[in-house]
Amino acid sequence: MPNFDAGLRPRSIGRTFIIAAFAMMLGYYLSSAGRGWFSGGPVVRDFETMNTYGRITLPEGSGVGIDPELAVAEAEAAVARVNTLMSPFGEASDVKRLNDSPAGVWVSVDPLTWRVVMESLRWHRLSGGAFDPTIGPVKRLFTFDGRETEAWPSDEALADARSRVGADKLRFEREGMRLSWAVDGMRLDLGAIAKGFAADLAMESLIRNGARHALVDIGGELRAIGGKPGDAGEPWRAGIRHPRDDDVIERFEMVDGAVATSGDYERFFLHNGVRYEHIIDPRTGMPLTEGPASVTVIHPSSCLASDALATTLCVLGERDGEAFIREQSLGLFSSGVRVIMLLAEEDGVRRVEMVVNAEGGVEVSSSMTDG
Ligand code: ADP
Ligand code: MG
Repeated sequence: MPNFDAGLRPRSIGRTFIIAAFAMMLGYYLSSAGRGWFSGGPVVRDFETMNTYGRITLPEGSGVGIDPELAVAEAEAAVARVNTLMSPFGEASDVKRLNDSPAGVWVSVDPLTWRVVMESLRWHRLSGGAFDPTIGPVKRLFTFDGRETEAWPSDEALADARSRVGADKLRFEREGMRLSWAVDGMRLDLGAIAKGFAADLAMESLIRNGARHALVDIGGELRAIGGKPGDAGEPWRAGIRHPRDDDVIERFEMVDGAVATSGDYERFFLHNGVRYEHIIDPRTGMPLTEGPASVTVIHPSSCLASDALATTLCVLGERDGEAFIREQSLGLFSSGVRVIMLLAEEDGVRRVEMVVNAEGGVEVSSSMTDG
């Protein structure tokens, strides 16, 4: 099966997750047992995708009347399609075909891949280059397996890889949705944005099938609509994992929205006591060593935006990240966005929250956590 990171064990729980959805689902299940197939009862589907887990939840009363099982299967197929097209592996992958192509050769891609590539180039420009979907050549010099390692690439290998990074060297032609490289040996890597897109696509599919209450979770990138069904109008409850142990560090609620978290504690390696994470700083051409321990982005509607922004803010860090949010607060984030940055410091975890309010103002607060 194609994976986003070959050889790594899929995660079983994300850095952000829905609290107690299962218990709630079980409650629904018990109350609807015996009412038959067409009761529109709850459906929870778990699967593996994009080197992580996926979970799609349609509660009882989701609005999908006739066949929730089929609606969920269609949503899962949408995620599988994103994986097939955008994984770095597999013969049916647009990304692999492009990465196997020498400079100057045009590769036509699927409209879905085109959309994600255009979004990733947009984020590249908006972020002043902090987000770069072409960091692949540098990333592949390292193994982010969570272990201590002595291995280190040579200066020549690093310099060579860096010369093959840069989204400005990805050519594109709207006509025919074609992509090509300006330089040999470049590699497209949609790992920072594809999971969020897959969550959005799965949710679009559920909505087309009538869903008004639903949850999609792709490895901790969450997309939710409608809160929990029922008169109470209760929100979904989600949690953020502590970046240095398995506890929940913070809980929050969400009726409609999207959440993504990027962090330094799942895919990294240690070298001479320094933690190198799988996000590459395009400005230094090195894996990040001093980024936030985690960045969670809560967006009102787009998981793709949450995913791209979480990665971007890991690269930019606290100060430049705040400047970026302020710069974009009346444009990109005018519909509101909330960022929770956790910074691992000597005396504990410091929490920085940035909220774009309804007037486009940005409220920032910082405090030490108990964790
Ligand atoms: P996760 O995949 O753990 O949810 P992210 O969304 O932050 O985390 O994506 C990290 C992945 O994105 C990396 O493994 C790599 O494939 C890719 N990547 C690394 N650095 C960058 C960058 N500066 N811009 C865009 N993508 C990146
Ligand atoms: Mg991301």
